[in-house]
Amino acid sequence: MTIRSILQAIVHPRTVTEDLGPPSQVAADVPRLAGSLQLRHVDAGSCNGCELEITSTFGPVYDAERFGARLVASPRHADALLVTGPVTKNMVGPLVKTFEAMPEPRMVIALGDCARDCGVFRGGYGVEGPVGDVLPVDLQVPGCPPNPEAIVRALRGLTGR
Ligand code: SF4
Repeated sequence: MTIRSILQAIVHPRTVTEDLGPPSQVAADVPRLAGSLQLRHVDAGSCNGCELEITSTFGPVYDAERFGARLVASPRHADALLVTGPVTKNMVGPLVKTFEAMPEPRMVIALGDCARDCGVFRGGYGVEGPVGDVLPVDLQVPGCPPNPEAIVRALRGLTGR
């Protein structure tokens, strides 16, 4: 890289964010929020593959925040609980406590095949079951792992942006 090209990149930065088109439709019985969705993420026993995709979802290329979705640190600030992985026996208690700490109305999103039906971990000795066995799930995002585009599409279905 030359000094000139570095200066050009500073003065005229290139946009790397993907144009993801219009939002997708979600089922009529899934609640929708007015343009803003605060998410508390809990890994209930994932292999970390879904977390890598969530990281990309909120990175500069897919940038879910531009559609109103945001990760928050406290369940007290969250509209929705974003759960990855099958629910392991050790995580049943923390997951339920996190859900109960959220203000109502609150939603639960099961992200990835493991969260939906235990995926490749089905039958594991440490697995309690899918998220739906522990909490009322409002939205499922399939895939192992779901890619950032699919995650953004699902979140946009909730924010309507
Ligand atoms: S759905 Fe796939 S990537 Fe996600 S936690 Fe399960 S095995 Fe890992």
